Amino acid sequence: MDDSCPPPPAQTTPLFTFGVIADIQYADIEDGSNYKHSRKRYYRNSLQLLRNAQHTWSTSAITPRFTLQLGDIIDGFNKRHEASDEALDTVMREFSSGPVQVHHVWGNHEFYNFSRDTLFRSRLNSSTAHCECVTDRQGGLQADGIYAYHFSPVPKFRFVVLDAYDVSLLGREESSVQYSNALKLLKQHNDNEDLNHPPESEGLERRFVKFNGGFSKEQLDWLDTVLTLADERSERVTVVSHLPVHPSSTDPICLAWNYDELLEILHSHGSVVCFMAGHDHDGGYHRDKDSGVHYLTLEGVIETPPDSDAFGTVSVYDDRMVLKGNGRIADRELLFP
Ligand SMILES: [Zn+2]
Ligand SMILES: [Zn+2]
Repeated sequence: MDDSCPPPPAQTTPLFTFGVIADIQYADIEDGSNYKHSRKRYYRNSLQLLRNAQHTWSTSAITPRFTLQLGDIIDGFNKRHEASDEALDTVMREFSSGPVQVHHVWGNHEFYNFSRDTLFRSRLNSSTAHCECVTDRQGGLQADGIYAYHFSPVPKFRFVVLDAYDVSLLGREESSVQYSNALKLLKQHNDNEDLNHPPESEGLERRFVKFNGGFSKEQLDWLDTVLTLADERSERVTVVSHLPVHPSSTDPICLAWNYDELLEILHSHGSVVCFMAGHDHDGGYHRDKDSGVHYLTLEGVIETPPDSDAFGTVSVYDDRMVLKGNGRIADRELLFP
């Protein structure tokens, strides 16, 4: 008789699943292109791609616990056409057609369309929304109008939503201290008249553009506290923000201003397993060697051709997350550190 133990069977049923989608940037206008005219933008069809995602999530064998919408839900062009409210209604109608609760991240296009105050009062503020997917909500950080919060959909797993435009020219009143501090910082690195133009210098300095932003000390301290608590509880934490924070996961022109300060905090907490962002429509991925943290930048819906797709479904297991990508988004196995 062979008395050697067979290997344990691989865990096939996930603990839970969730959906991810980024940069829908819907507008009821003709197709256009990005700033450099190197990529086409499908403003109307982005709604159809959201519909495809919703269809997959609402008909899948395991209904996702929630969806992460990683920012830029409608395009800034809506503001120019005085169609911001209408466009948001259209997209939110699509989101609410499914059974899945959505956690919204705020990007630059949210601030092109709405003021910070308006966003806090809108359906894009998911920090206070009643959510059946949440078993434990520790509340958010709303001091100084910062949109950051965390939730735990299942014991031992936590998600932190960050505000990457906390330090920015976007969404801050020109008369505010935050605006003048952000302007001072930006001008130290960028002397162009149009601050949406990156500075001449090569490399990471190119992140100092008006369409990016950063994290205040207040938000960094708050994150540090949240992650300390998560460490003590042996939780697995996924942090999300509109802006990528790892230079190897994005074109530097899309990187958060003080990405280095954020990385330092993420890497000082063993609970952190993954960081997800949007904003760089080409997407990106990098695994940090030392910490083992996965940095995932999701391909944007807006620059995805109508015959493709750009959304993912993540299955979470005890030891890993498995991303099932659709269309432009690659499948990935994200082993926990
Ligand atoms: Zn975008
Ligand atoms: Zn963006």
